Amino acid sequence: MTIYSGPVFEMARTQFGTIADHLGIPDDERARLLYPKRAIAVSVPVHMDDGRTEVFQAYRVQHHLTLGPTKGGTRFSSSLHIGEVAALAIWMSWKCALAGLPYGGAKGGVACDPPALSRRELEAVSRRYMQEMIPFVGPQTDVMAPDMGTNEQVMAWFMDTYSMHHGHAVSEIVTGKPVSLGGTEGRREATGRGVAYLVSRACDAIGIRSQDSTAVVQGFGNVGSVSAYTLARRHGVRIIGASDHTAALYDPAGLPLDAIERHIAEHGVLAGFTNQVGIDPDALLIQPCDILVPAAVERVITAENAGKLRCRILAEGANGPTTPDADAVLDERRDEVFVIPDILCNSGGVIVSYFEWVQDLQQLFWSESEVNDRLERLLEGAFTQVTRRAAAERVSMRTAGMSIGVEKVRAGKRLRGLFP
Ligand code: NAD
Repeated sequence: MTIYSGPVFEMARTQFGTIADHLGIPDDERARLLYPKRAIAVSVPVHMDDGRTEVFQAYRVQHHLTLGPTKGGTRFSSSLHIGEVAALAIWMSWKCALAGLPYGGAKGGVACDPPALSRRELEAVSRRYMQEMIPFVGPQTDVMAPDMGTNEQVMAWFMDTYSMHHGHAVSEIVTGKPVSLGGTEGRREATGRGVAYLVSRACDAIGIRSQDSTAVVQGFGNVGSVSAYTLARRHGVRIIGASDHTAALYDPAGLPLDAIERHIAEHGVLAGFTNQVGIDPDALLIQPCDILVPAAVERVITAENAGKLRCRILAEGANGPTTPDADAVLDERRDEVFVIPDILCNSGGVIVSYFEWVQDLQQLFWSESEVNDRLERLLEGAFTQVTRRAAAERVSMRTAGMSIGVEKVRAGKRLRGLFP
């Protein structure tokens, strides 16, 4: 029995089982590696604008404290469930270890629908959530960051609430803050930039030129939009498909990204851009393209559509977009589809969050070009390790990447003992 039921946690557990089998990890070590060290569930009561008091359920899961503080995003989403939060925390652990960061994984969030909240209500939810978490987080214990449904403003409210409690500014308690509050240059763009960099390396690996390539991007929030803009403007890729939860656009001639960027800046969503290039959102994923970037929610590449994907590169911008059943199909298609697994593909976000934390601790700030150079160096190292291991052991990129992550956490636990 576990409190972490649900399909997303099952995914994380199944993936871990595959890796544990591959690495020959004995049964009595497995539960220690998989199950979170700590999970916190709180109620977040808020006075709503219409006079009612609403109580939101909220969570934080800290996977392990073996290699340093835990680190992970905060998701505001109406369907949030503790099993999903735990799975995301576990994936963060393998991701941080693969990138060589001194962190365990964490994740948290509030079950709420941000677009349905007024700005005042959103601030109240954010501040009360951090207030409830103060006993459990800290710059050396657990450092929060943005994820779906949260942004720089929410991080600023978190930082302010924590700082008021301590009586001085504690910028290193969260990453993804505004630069004016100790955030780092390049954090907002980091995940999408990292996706685009790794896609260009995957193009090299399979021998296609990014300038001659096309891409479809699912999800047009922080990760999806920056991935699309960077792929197009830096690497010359033609973006032929894009979607968010309101609309899906597809035009093999290429979408007008500048006009889409202006539309998003004004309306926040793709809906209303133009219905001349609309497409069914599920059909978008199986259109022919060189690069497919799922950058929205979990479990969109399934056993149903994995065999129908017509991309050469699957770049997992989102966390957990591919189910284990779909992985089995993609494993069979390894020569056709090059998978950049989520724990590698979207690691640019946590890498630059780590840079932000380091800069805040030192109170010494770097230029954007220094941030980007260091980001590319770490991504390059991780990409090389994963591709080499996948080739040497004849396993998928996901198995190779997760094996590296799990091994590092396991080695730390073996050296330290049972505590962390
Ligand atoms: P976001 O809230 O900025 O954007 C999410 C986007 O997904 C929105 O455009 C939304 O409309 C769209 N979306 C939601 N449901 C959809 C659906 N069913 N079909 C198509 N589009 C849909 O969130 P984000 O920060 O860009 O995060 C996206 C994914 O990337 C998540 O899985 C997140 O965990 C992961 N991620 C984010 C970061 C980061 O730095 N923000 C880092 C690593 C991983």
